[in-house]
Amino acid sequence: MPALTLTGRGGRSFEVPTGLFISNQFIDSINRTTLDVYNPYSGALLGTVSAGESADIDLAVQEASKALPTWRRLPGTEKERLLYRLASLIARDADDFAAIHALDAGMVYDQVRALDIRNATDVLRHFAGWADKISGRITDITNGTGYVRREPFGVCGLIIPWNAPLMITCWKLGPALASGNVVIIKSPELAPLCGQKLGQLIAEAGFPPGVVNIVPGHGATAGQAIAEHMQIRKVSFTGSTQTGRKVLQAAASSNLKKVTLELGGKGASIVLKDADLANAAFWTSMGSSANNGQICVLGSRIYVQDEVYDDFVKEFSVLSTQGTAYIGNPLDAGVAKGPMISRSQHARVMSYIDAGLHEGAQLLFGGKQLHDPMGTADENHASGFIANTVFVGVTEDMEIVKEEIFGPVATIHRFSTEAEVIQKANASEYGLSASIFSRDIDRVQRLSSALEAGQMFVNCWGTPSANMPFGGTKASGFGSDMGVEALEGWTTLKSTYHWHMHGE
Ligand code: NDP
Repeated sequence: MPALTLTGRGGRSFEVPTGLFISNQFIDSINRTTLDVYNPYSGALLGTVSAGESADIDLAVQEASKALPTWRRLPGTEKERLLYRLASLIARDADDFAAIHALDAGMVYDQVRALDIRNATDVLRHFAGWADKISGRITDITNGTGYVRREPFGVCGLIIPWNAPLMITCWKLGPALASGNVVIIKSPELAPLCGQKLGQLIAEAGFPPGVVNIVPGHGATAGQAIAEHMQIRKVSFTGSTQTGRKVLQAAASSNLKKVTLELGGKGASIVLKDADLANAAFWTSMGSSANNGQICVLGSRIYVQDEVYDDFVKEFSVLSTQGTAYIGNPLDAGVAKGPMISRSQHARVMSYIDAGLHEGAQLLFGGKQLHDPMGTADENHASGFIANTVFVGVTEDMEIVKEEIFGPVATIHRFSTEAEVIQKANASEYGLSASIFSRDIDRVQRLSSALEAGQMFVNCWGTPSANMPFGGTKASGFGSDMGVEALEGWTTLKSTYHWHMHGE
């Protein structure tokens, strides 16, 4: 099967296969459809991979169904061994994975290596450890014994976004496999190469053919086919709220498959008057611009108490603008800010900045495109850079305050009382994350129980941990990735009533 040759850091080259990964083989898509993959930094065509459509998803489902009985029966300790092996192989090839994130998703190599790959391997190891510990309970019932078992759903679909493709895949893959399910992963069309590399390692680790199938493709065809498929019993989706609705509708009108939705957010970061301001400025600055703001838990609405507003804004502005000096090729050492994922995402974010100006918000800094000092980008396909942008003088009804921008754009709001900030922070349709900066334990506890969010960060921001559930409330979705709680979303309960026959 053909492969793409990619060039990583320091000119080191490596290959990833171009086919769909089905039953441990890389194969062409049935209709020979393909996807062109571009480097968002340079605009160069990285290569072409096969793109799955409905018939390919169906083939993957048939292969996964064949693998299901063997995988279900495989002892937990064997599943554990394979998941550990996969984690070790990802760690071994961390440089390749970091390079792939930089090449097709524009993510900063060093940040991916330090966070995404570390977390992805932690999560696989965490769930490897659960594979032989998923048990039910036993109880007395009238004239007999009741067994309550947790069983896998069967064939499951994993639909992945482009903004952290390996990490988010592992959030779903670990608990799905540990619970005895078999999977079809739909890689994102803009950043499919992590999935290609992962397929190689699944085969190398020795997973039985058909247990993990990976299909890059378009959402409207491959993604929709997963959501509608009559033999797929569960879909775990991460992406926008708008697409999440479509997945839920497709599930409802097909076979009522179970659905987990990790959707968008519009996180509030709250800086109280007793906060350590240097710490708050550090985390809120990172939390409003990391990965160019293309992060679902972004703390893009920053609420600062009157008494410390001016001091905070001063410290925050220094930290948030200095990264501009380190833009460039995300593959290179020393680069802190890469390009946006695509030209259309760039245009979308710039249109929100225009909307903010039009609505009368006051630009504190940013608001403009940046140009790579090396100036090597191909203007036709390179996505371009956007300066970290912050508005003040905003009101809660402005578009830039209400909608998820998914770019490096934040708003700073002044507040006086706890009641006021709770009301404003909760006024969002989203409920994914919130941060609180304070040294007062009572305030922290009052606020963290009053805020409507699946993730609450106290004196920090965006620090995922394999043993903590990750998910949202309200329009940010339902269900969990990570943490032991995720296993509930990958298993269904079976109650067995064992009637005791009268013996002789
Ligand atoms: P999208 O919703 O556009 O896409 C997510 C995935 O769904 C992609 O693989 C996409 O395919 C696929 N898809 C598109 N249409 C359909 C369809 N009709 N049926 C099934 N699948 C479909 O999101 P983005 O990729 O643009 O990711 C950004 C969004 O993801 C943001 O809103 C962000 O907040 C959210 N997100 C949430 C996270 C969380 O954990 N809560 C984490 C990360 C991101 P294709 O690749 O072709 O577009």
